[in-house]
Amino acid sequence: MEQIVEMIQARDPEQYEFHQAVEEVIESVKPVLDRNPEYRQQAVLERITEPERVVMFRVPWMADNGQVQVNRGFRVEMNSAIGPYKGGLRFHPSVNLGIIKFLAFEQVFKNSLTTLAMGGGKGGSDFDPKGKSDMEVMRFCQSFMSELYRHIGPNTDVPAGDIGVGAREIGYLFGMYKKLKNEFTGVLTGKSLNWGGSLIRPEATGYGVVYFAAEMLATRGESLEGKTCLVSGSGNVAQFTTEKIIDLGGRVVTLSDSSGYIYDEQGIDREKLDFVMDLKNIRRGRISDYLNAYPHAVYTAVDPALDHNPLWDHRADCAFPAATQNEINDKDAAKLLANGVYLVSEGANMPSTPEAVDLFIDNKILYGPGKAANAGGVAVSGLEMAQNSMRLAWPREEVDSRLKHIMESIHRTCIDAAGSYGADGNYVIGANIAGFIKVVNAMLDQGLV
Ligand code: NDP
Repeated sequence: MEQIVEMIQARDPEQYEFHQAVEEVIESVKPVLDRNPEYRQQAVLERITEPERVVMFRVPWMADNGQVQVNRGFRVEMNSAIGPYKGGLRFHPSVNLGIIKFLAFEQVFKNSLTTLAMGGGKGGSDFDPKGKSDMEVMRFCQSFMSELYRHIGPNTDVPAGDIGVGAREIGYLFGMYKKLKNEFTGVLTGKSLNWGGSLIRPEATGYGVVYFAAEMLATRGESLEGKTCLVSGSGNVAQFTTEKIIDLGGRVVTLSDSSGYIYDEQGIDREKLDFVMDLKNIRRGRISDYLNAYPHAVYTAVDPALDHNPLWDHRADCAFPAATQNEINDKDAAKLLANGVYLVSEGANMPSTPEAVDLFIDNKILYGPGKAANAGGVAVSGLEMAQNSMRLAWPREEVDSRLKHIMESIHRTCIDAAGSYGADGNYVIGANIAGFIKVVNAMLDQGLV
């Protein structure tokens, strides 16, 4: 197994995030390979870590001032053993092939855990929608789709949103796909409600993260009632994580963006959250503007070069990282533990570094890794696909109850898989093993393809 990791590193030495994601999974599934020697002979690790297909393409578009711009587009179709490729698109200047590969790899296991028939993929571009006009975003999305449309389809590959891709971008992408293919199909999820979207899809990732946290707390006979919570980010996942924590009686005291974070000791209530949603989704402002409406809060600018994010340095019970990968390092994790945090439920993908994860596990806190805790978004995307193929729209209560049920089932699956390999309470091992076995067995059933 060490040789496989070395081979992957040597082949693509600059893909650090992908190496990190692969190493974690390989470490967790060692006992599964020991129990199933045929997996070695079938080279399942080598196969599952190599994408089925990678598409990289030029995305030319014109800025409002007439200047032509060129970005790079990606789609990594990682694994289709249990269903069509499924996973979001990320538009952010940091995007590169290594980041998209790590996200696609994580997506394979996450989708497997949802119990729905979805393979794993991910895509995106180094385009930055921040500061662009609506027309610039539209022209970029149209150019991006003018290449991507050949590679996707409702039974082939169904993209969705991620960082920088929300309802506006999904609308422009879908419009171009429909024009090019001359068909109205559920090829993207996260669509608006009046043209094929599902109720609860915008809320699903954040709600699911909190349902997963509630399940973890229930194993200790506790609930979120009265708990103080740190949330990072202020985008889709952070907003609906905050909403559900408020619903369940918790108190959220932080939110952030890539410039800094706010600390509101009184707690972010429904009215304040509405302000943040309008600020971020409509006015596209910065989280520092929170103080214009609520001057009692404290804003701290965060220098990304700092080796510790002060957001994680407040007394709390629970933490919900919901911004980006590797946002909690070992120093941050040590601060969280020292400040009383005993539950971490990950909204973002791989927000904790391997050293931070080790600290959480060594200290036996309730730690829900992203591939389990944030699977609610893709689960409801799967439900959106089901509704699209039936040309039906389920009511809000039905989708929410299915989401809750799926999160409870993912939690149970992780507990059971960890327990059967002697790792009681370790959700990382549980999620990796359960996701891995299902996908690998499907690959073996389908022969060497
Ligand atoms: P959004 O674009 O809606 O929000 C992202 C938030 O994170 C923004 O507040 C953004 O700040 C902040 N952020 C982004 N990059 C950085 C960075 N490098 N450093 C600090 N802050 C940063 O994205 P989502 O809420 O959809 O996604 C957040 C996380 O959740 C991602 O890891 C994503 O992969 C994961 N996720 C999302 C799902 C979904 O359904 N949307 C599903 C499962 C996981 P700023 O505005 O300044 O950039």
